[in-house]
Amino acid sequence: MKHDIVIIGGGISGVSTAYELARRGFKPLVLERSSLAAMASGWTLGGVRQSGRHPAELPLALAAVQRWPGLAEELEGETGYRQGGNLRIARTPDEALRIQQVVEATRAAGIDIDYLPMVDDVRKVAPVISPGIHSASLCHTDGHAEPVATVTAFARAAERLGAEIRTGVEVTGLSSTGGKIDGVRTADGVISAETVVVAAGIYTPALVGPLEVDIPITVTLTNVYQTVSLEPQLDQVIGVATGNLAFRQQIDGKFRLTGANTVWEHDLRSIQTSHDSVQPVLANLVRLHGVAIEVLPSFEMMRINRVWGGLIDQSPDGLPVYSADTGVDGLVVAAGFSGHGFGIGPVTGQILADLATGETPPFDLDPFRIQRFTSTETSAPVELHG
Ligand SMILES: Cc1cc2nc3c(=O)[nH]c(=O)nc-3n(C[C@H](O)[C@H](O)[C@H](O)COP(=O)(O)OP(=O)(O)OC[C@H]3O[C@@H](n4cnc5c(N)ncnc54)[C@H](O)[C@@H]3O)c2cc1C
Repeated sequence: MKHDIVIIGGGISGVSTAYELARRGFKPLVLERSSLAAMASGWTLGGVRQSGRHPAELPLALAAVQRWPGLAEELEGETGYRQGGNLRIARTPDEALRIQQVVEATRAAGIDIDYLPMVDDVRKVAPVISPGIHSASLCHTDGHAEPVATVTAFARAAERLGAEIRTGVEVTGLSSTGGKIDGVRTADGVISAETVVVAAGIYTPALVGPLEVDIPITVTLTNVYQTVSLEPQLDQVIGVATGNLAFRQQIDGKFRLTGANTVWEHDLRSIQTSHDSVQPVLANLVRLHGVAIEVLPSFEMMRINRVWGGLIDQSPDGLPVYSADTGVDGLVVAAGFSGHGFGIGPVTGQILADLATGETPPFDLDPFRIQRFTSTETSAPVELHG
């Protein structure tokens, strides 16, 4: 049997694409080597943000923020989305200058964002924040969502509309003839397909590389810890001006905190298929904890429930690749989300569904072309702001 469209990857990019295709009457097949949200889409902080985005990504982020509030009802499943805002904290006058630049750029892009110059103003909106910080920006329309719930909601909605999702199936390679894709290889043989969408996160370059499609991604390790459940006390996603710490309180009361990034140079094949299979750097977690206490003093007394490492597909310019112009007919690629692909996930699905079916997406995709890279580029540092 030949499938119209096979999608590799059961993260938010893959399942939102399956949902968008199924809505349009297609019956896509999703192949996921592990379980849904097993990698970045489960490791993530879960911030949904427009503020501080690269101008090229802003139209996507704006469109995503339009969709998030209605998504749970649309998908008939939980997303845990809350539009609690994003507070970007300055701890020093120097950091305040950086924040003010973000405020100016964000306003210039037409997004409503406040600069709160006095710590009392910051503590009026988030009383748990330390009186020792300097100032902050506040974007009211940013927010956060629960990642595993959201991916599950997309997947179940896609299945109800006719998509098929197979977990525990690893794609070992792509199959093509005469410059045209014709399927994917698995341990059980080739699955034939007219079109293949590769949304396999950090594994995408290795899958498309043999077809001479080069995506220059480096892998960054970010460290995450989660506390036990606590009383609700924080609505916003918190980031710091340096972009190397972000946290939020989940809908179940647990705080989830991430940051202290380092380049990860291990063999990708060493990653097992469970959520907790990537080891965080404990020294960095300790450092991160110290910075977190500077921003939210009660972290000092919170009991930590779980720690994990998360890997980020970092592109040279910090922007993703969305491309059907890969040089291989029928091959569509999405990768390089650089630590901010969860919030725009619902729009990624729309874009990839368009590319897979030959429609023109309603966004300028020029900044996301695969051909924009040259071999000499190095990757931009990861910045985490939720
Ligand atoms: C710690 C951390 C914090 C983050 N914070 C934020 C944030 O606050 N806001 C934000 O917007 N973004 C954030 N991000 C980034 C965001 O989580 C990712 O950009 C997004 O989840 C990427 O989704 P994806 O579906 O493209 O990739 P993934 O979720 O990685 O999905 C790829 C899937 O493909 C599967 N796969 C891989 N190879 C194969 C194969 N050969 N065969 C079959 N299946 C395969 C994998 O198992 C995986 O499930 C964060 C990321 C991390 C790690």
